[in-house]
Amino acid sequence: MTPHRNYYAGAWHPSLDGGTFEDRNPADERDLIGAFPDSDAQDADAAIAAVAANWRPWAAASPEVRANALEKAANIMGARADAIAAELTREEGKTLAEAQAEARRIAANFRLYAGEALRARGETYASDAGQMVLSLRQPVGIIAVITPWNFPLSMAARKLAPALAAGNGVVFKPSEVTPLMGQRLVEVLLDAGIPPGVIALLHGRGPQIGKALVADSRIGGVTFTGSFPVGSAIQAAVGTDTRCQLEMGGKNATVVLEDADLDHAAAIIVRGAFGLTGQACTGTSRVLVPAGLHDRLVERIAAAAEAITVGPGTLPGVTMGPLASRAQRDKVLSYIELGRAEGGRLVTGGVRLDEGELAHGHFVRPTLFADLPESSRLLREEIFGPVVAMRRFEDLDDAIRIVNDTEYGLAASIVTRDLAAVLRFAREVEAGVIKVNAPTTGNALNAPFGGFRHSSNQAAKEQSGANVMDFYTRLKTVYLTA
Ligand code: NAD
Repeated sequence: MTPHRNYYAGAWHPSLDGGTFEDRNPADERDLIGAFPDSDAQDADAAIAAVAANWRPWAAASPEVRANALEKAANIMGARADAIAAELTREEGKTLAEAQAEARRIAANFRLYAGEALRARGETYASDAGQMVLSLRQPVGIIAVITPWNFPLSMAARKLAPALAAGNGVVFKPSEVTPLMGQRLVEVLLDAGIPPGVIALLHGRGPQIGKALVADSRIGGVTFTGSFPVGSAIQAAVGTDTRCQLEMGGKNATVVLEDADLDHAAAIIVRGAFGLTGQACTGTSRVLVPAGLHDRLVERIAAAAEAITVGPGTLPGVTMGPLASRAQRDKVLSYIELGRAEGGRLVTGGVRLDEGELAHGHFVRPTLFADLPESSRLLREEIFGPVVAMRRFEDLDDAIRIVNDTEYGLAASIVTRDLAAVLRFAREVEAGVIKVNAPTTGNALNAPFGGFRHSSNQAAKEQSGANVMDFYTRLKTVYLTA
């Protein structure tokens, strides 16, 4: 078992000033997972220097070498998935079933990008006789990978794997809420044979270490998933010649049309809203429904929400874990207070659970608000917790207008068999992911994923699928003259 340290230059290091921060179980704060290095600019400097000195042989390695290492990482991840999932539940709080689903998917993700290492290609261009013009695809250099806590394995793996497949070096800063998952991923990659000098792992709090990392001119690209305010700060901090990919928050809506089966609609909504304790970037946080169906749908969602068993994700029968941190719990409770203050009707939930064995965790009941005023902040701002706001609409035009009435544009879904309505919804909704008769959550590994507006910076939107490789590579045009 490796200690909880930073990793660079082929070795595990404490932070250079010796500082640490604590990682605790959100289901029971008394359970200390470990103390991790609280890194700062000098640690960033050492880690970047180490990768800068070592990444080039990896770029020059045969594509097969890179593909084989990622394939091996997939096999190791597959073998360790259940053990890592148990630690993921302890560290982030999601249920064991949710953690296993996330951990097991990482192997497929590594395999996908093992294939991309082999598929990288350039083109030749029509040219004069005596000359040949071609494009040469090369890695960018050193990629800074900055990730959130909600999917600490998959958000990181879908950046690390393509970055390494392309031959880049990486400096990886996992969320300070889930540092252990960052360490586990790095261990898998190192055990798979990724050369030690090519990877650096830096733990620490974002405003300190993240800031130092993104502003460093040796970093060729920054790939970030997290909140809009932090993404905006990163965009402002990176140099003009550093490429920057930002994948940020969402305010995702499910629209239920007149013809929908209400039981089916409620099931879709409850899965999208309360799965992962509402802490998915694509989580459903608004439900739009015609006035005639409103009360019946509210009743069904409330009944399903009340059937959810909240508790530590390790306990059998628990279907919703805690919020991932005290700060996250307090944020969710403050939005619940706001919903009340705005005059919304709290249909169910709205309370913290802190009795008995839940006393030391960050548990909140699944919450449903109805009859909020149109101006409500609960209908526009990302809450990132198990809180859903209902809203009535008049017709499809009105529904599409309301879906688009937020600064975000990540995911939206519609429940209907009306193909004409689906076609309009898919074309007119300002979101990067459109779902039909399915929850707003969940996405295919091999399809593009990315948001519009505040959900993504448009320069480098693709976060999954093969197009991602464009971010991690650059093209050089070569003129061969006889
Ligand atoms: P966050 O923005 O607070 O932190 C994300 C990462 O950025 C962390 O590693 C953090 O330490 C780091 N960071 C913080 N300040 C920084 C700075 N000044 N410079 C550089 N790095 C800094 O987000 P979070 O609370 O960890 O995650 C939740 C957010 O992530 C939500 O908004 C959610 O919607 C979003 N998210 C988006 C997607 C997506 O694919 N669109 C997926 C998952 C999560």
